[in-house]
Amino acid sequence: MTELVIFGRGGQGGVTLAKLIAQAHFLRGQFVQAFGVYAAERSGAPLQAFVRIDDSEITNSNQIREPDHVVVLDRTLIGPRILAGLRPGGWIILNSADYPEAFVERFPGRPLATVDATAIAIAHGLGTKTVPIVNTTMFGATSKVLGISFDDVEHALREIKLGGANIEAARRAYEQVRMQELPGAATLVPPLTPGDHVVGLLDDEVGAPPSLKTGSWATRRPHRQRLTPPCNHACPAGNDVQSFVAAVTEGRLDRALHTLLQTSPFPGVCGRVCPAPCMEACNRGTFDESVNVRELERYVADHGHREIADHSWRDERVAVIGSGPAGFSAAYQLARLGYSITLFEAGDELGGVMRTGIPAYRLPRDRLDREIEFILDHGVETRLCHRVSRAELIDLSREFSALFLATGLQETRALDLSVERGGSADRIEQGIDFLDRARRGLVKLNGERVTVVGGGNTAIDAARSARRLGASQVRIVYRRSRNEMPAIAEEIDAAIGEGVAIDELVSPLRLRTNGVHALLTCQRMRLGEPDESGRARPVPETTEDAFFDIPCDRVVLALGQSPDLSILPEGCEIRDAGALLGLIASPVFCGGDLAANEGTVAAAIGGGRRAAFHIHRTLTGEDFLAAEEAPIAEPQVIAAHLFTHSPRRRGGVIAPSKRRHSFDEVHTGWENDGLHHHAHEEASRCFSCGVCNACDRCVEHCPEAVLRLDADGYRFDYDYCKGCGLCATQCPRGVIYMAEL
Ligand code: FAD
Repeated sequence: MTELVIFGRGGQGGVTLAKLIAQAHFLRGQFVQAFGVYAAERSGAPLQAFVRIDDSEITNSNQIREPDHVVVLDRTLIGPRILAGLRPGGWIILNSADYPEAFVERFPGRPLATVDATAIAIAHGLGTKTVPIVNTTMFGATSKVLGISFDDVEHALREIKLGGANIEAARRAYEQVRMQELPGAATLVPPLTPGDHVVGLLDDEVGAPPSLKTGSWATRRPHRQRLTPPCNHACPAGNDVQSFVAAVTEGRLDRALHTLLQTSPFPGVCGRVCPAPCMEACNRGTFDESVNVRELERYVADHGHREIADHSWRDERVAVIGSGPAGFSAAYQLARLGYSITLFEAGDELGGVMRTGIPAYRLPRDRLDREIEFILDHGVETRLCHRVSRAELIDLSREFSALFLATGLQETRALDLSVERGGSADRIEQGIDFLDRARRGLVKLNGERVTVVGGGNTAIDAARSARRLGASQVRIVYRRSRNEMPAIAEEIDAAIGEGVAIDELVSPLRLRTNGVHALLTCQRMRLGEPDESGRARPVPETTEDAFFDIPCDRVVLALGQSPDLSILPEGCEIRDAGALLGLIASPVFCGGDLAANEGTVAAAIGGGRRAAFHIHRTLTGEDFLAAEEAPIAEPQVIAAHLFTHSPRRRGGVIAPSKRRHSFDEVHTGWENDGLHHHAHEEASRCFSCGVCNACDRCVEHCPEAVLRLDADGYRFDYDYCKGCGLCATQCPRGVIYMAEL
């Protein structure tokens, strides 16, 4: 940051000079600030104006106490006062007819520049002889000293409609300014050497406070609080979103990944497929656009380094049944706590729906494999192709100290399409089976027309997969409207982009053949009153034109799934992460879709972690379950005016025309070129709602310098705090608040 103080008198145009200097830098793409402080509102009274210039956003708006350079517009103001706080090596730029050498004795060791701005301004008719307006002239001289080209000077002048004589005066000053740069003196921003240490407000060297304890005058005091950022509150996996994003801001990629891995072993999966409720809750969304947390999570997972914790060291063994995100999350947390884990999986591969359901164009298999491998490296043992039955569950409960059940949703919902015996029944398939066969390379559609029934993720993924597998036409029929579709909204848009047609408010009735083609007869619907799910109930239309046929060769049913409870002992009651009551020897817990059916990977991860902590508490009495959450940082606690607008950095996407033919990942993330820069820029958009990120604004604005930084963060010295409240009004994120005494 470069900071300038201008000393002048009312009428000389000092504040406009500050604006001109700022404008010239602004036009060069820098961030700038310019403002004036008036001693009195009359011509001739002393004034100061301030300019700040930086390559990144400027959030500090207090007066400048330690300028890099000073500019003096009036010779009567040339005195020791202009040296106050001036950084070593900073230029003193004077309006004077004398050569710089004339001031060497008064300002020893300082680089000096002089220009007779008064004479130049009078010669160009700027102002009057008694009060010449020297600002544009001094702008020319100052710009030369600061290394700004005259083209930029002229551009800045024209931008604020100062042409003609102003430009000519500035040009003359630019040519005539005399500079005496002392040997070793710095130019634009003098680098500080250890010997040049400038005492900062946070240093302990600011001297002892006055003996008068002004804190006794206060009627209220500032306090600090830590609120719950809305993203953290919204994350079903329980991620500390604010902390991991803050670590990216600091360029601490491994630290960011470490933070995510505390709560979730699948940041690379969630960074791709999570519907990201954190982004929906993000306070920045009410300001411009929410922070791209999903892309940041993907970036951290793909580029950070994973450390494996120690292997088991406890005697207790825990069996986990089901290798979806819930099962794996519990296995991971329990392994980190030192338990020996055996994971039973009915299928021949690990990962649950992350592998069998979510297609590779959304979740590349190498990313999933890498995260599963990381969990297994914690010493988790697996038994594939091992479907646990009710009888075996009882046996396992004798063998293991605790069981965790996360078998997901195994029952599919059928639809009676009145297919005649020997008719088109083989044309109907369950979406989840279709997706599993598709990923194994067992589906070829060769121009078939496919109709998918449903509105959830399975329906959308089946439709998009069908498109990629060679279907000539893919339609989704859904009995409600698009607004009620449970699928992730962005995935619906992507499907439409890939040429999938959506027939809203349509319900299929029967599948028949007309000798040549199969036809799906459908009925139009309208929305009625909300049903028990809270969504508008679809009501059949009965007019003649409410019925129509869709030619189709294959129907894929994606009508939702439910848990298969046959594994549970009779009479068991399922509660998310609550122990099952029943006839079982060891404690049994349930989680994921089986227990809560929240239908997201993140929720399953959260359920698995909670269950792991419940198991640990049951076995040891030690409690890692989260304490009560602090209040949420609502949008109104954010001082939005202290932030600047900045668009979300989006990751790349393959064009629909290309992706229709391939299972390559659709989202390509941030390009390798400038990857870290994009991540840093996006993370820096985070408001850090309700969490101090040591921005120093409170310190900078405290008129009494009563804030000190110690190991626990900032501390108020109430002996001297008068309770003015400036720190609270200047805190951008609702951390500081005032309370009556
Ligand atoms: P599952 O992932 O279903 O895993 C259960 C595992 O248990 C399976 O591997 C199963 O074989 C095994 N199992 C079952 N019974 C037994 C038994 N008796 N013995 C041993 N093993 C058994 N969520 C998102 O967040 N984003 C998405 O983009 C997304 N897309 C989806 C797309 C599709 C097609 C589907 C179907 C779901 C999608 N979801 C998505 C939802 C998400 O995948 C699930 O909510 C999540 O996988 C549930 O995790 P889980 O561990 O509870 O169960």
